[in-house]
Amino acid sequence: MAIDNESFELLLASVQRFTRERLMPAEDAVEENDEVPADIVEDMKEMGLFGLSIPEEYGGIGLSMSQECRVAYEIGHTSLAFRSVFGTNVGIGSQGILMDGTEAQKQEILPRVATGELILSFALTEPDAGSDSAAVKTRGELVKDGDGDHYLLNGSKRFITNAPRAGAFTLMARTDGPGAGGISAFVVPADAKGLSLGKPDKKMGQRGTKTCDVILDNVRVPAANIIGGKPGQGFKTAMKVLDRGRLHISAVACGMAQRILNESVAYARERKQFGKRIGDFQLVQAMLADSQAELYAGWSMVQDCALRYDAKPAGRSDPDVSMRASCCKLFCTEMVGRVADRGVQVHGGAGYINEYPVERFYRDVRLLRLYEGTTQIQQLIIGRELVGRD
Ligand SMILES: Cc1cc2nc3c(=O)[nH]c(=O)nc-3n(C[C@H](O)[C@H](O)[C@H](O)COP(=O)(O)OP(=O)(O)OC[C@H]3O[C@@H](n4cnc5c(N)ncnc54)[C@H](O)[C@@H]3O)c2cc1C
Repeated sequence: MAIDNESFELLLASVQRFTRERLMPAEDAVEENDEVPADIVEDMKEMGLFGLSIPEEYGGIGLSMSQECRVAYEIGHTSLAFRSVFGTNVGIGSQGILMDGTEAQKQEILPRVATGELILSFALTEPDAGSDSAAVKTRGELVKDGDGDHYLLNGSKRFITNAPRAGAFTLMARTDGPGAGGISAFVVPADAKGLSLGKPDKKMGQRGTKTCDVILDNVRVPAANIIGGKPGQGFKTAMKVLDRGRLHISAVACGMAQRILNESVAYARERKQFGKRIGDFQLVQAMLADSQAELYAGWSMVQDCALRYDAKPAGRSDPDVSMRASCCKLFCTEMVGRVADRGVQVHGGAGYINEYPVERFYRDVRLLRLYEGTTQIQQLIIGRELVGRD
């Protein structure tokens, strides 16, 4: 899946323009109000951003992974809250349905996801199941009564991005015994009886993004809501979705690293000490140079891995590509942390003051090393692929 180069370059140029002219000027307001303005969300819908990764036959734009990464890189130049508005529709929320859903599920759900009419969240994490995601405790109990086969869902999900905005959840629950094979992925409408939301989480950064708990108390969903119609496949679906998500996050990390570097270079050119621009001091240049070199390495990795992702059969997982996607997530999210830290250092005291965007970005990027698999989980995936399972 990909769109032709000419259409893609037009789209990319309009995303660049939108990022610079519409999103960047709204950064302070998002930080201040902890909310992405509704008119910006409408513009995002109009541009098709909610459907970037959804094939044209289901109403989306149908970008390849490498094209999506280039868009994510551009959007990554601004506060990460903007991307988060449509991020779950493009990635972790929708891709399970696209990869493993039945044709009926795709046709029913994806067109509304692509337009942004339906916000989809991805609900895997639980209070006692984070990195060990195969340990989910949320139960899905099969009930056969006169009303057709149903599942009763009970449990709670934690830190679910976009839950307060969601119209539905791609939600993992245990329908069978312990371990990964006992997990099924469901589509659960947000207005289902018995589903409630916790208080919004107060986060370190990324103001304007919304996360909270999702609580399921005897939530009844038809058996037909299992993604792909077959129980026991949910963990595999979740892992494929995360594989892909890791590349997207890596591209976002590179975009943000570029923005922080741009801010740092601009400041180094303008700020004077000892009668010179601080950028003329070689110790300041060293910080900028390290950031530039690491960013170049990270972005090269992402572009290479995205091409490999596009070259494999759609919807199939390939352990080598998964390992490389983990390399990207590990390197790029750690890299942007170092770039942000140097960005603050180049700004001196001003870098600690929230008038300067680097202060905010320093907090915002911290999350990238935690979600969609922590750095340590990426190390485990890479190590396991290299050494092999015992
Ligand atoms: C703002 C935000 C948004 C999120 N959005 C979503 C979402 O939309 N959907 C969703 O399902 N989840 C979401 N998450 C959850 C996120 O994916 C988890 O927080 C993450 O996977 C880590 O799980 P945990 O917090 O339980 O940490 P833990 O698993 O408890 O890890 C704690 C520490 O132990 C380390 N660790 C754990 N196991 C090992 C091991 N075997 N070897 C070495 N080190 C290990 C970890 O790397 C980490 O450093 C979100 C989280 C946040 C903070």
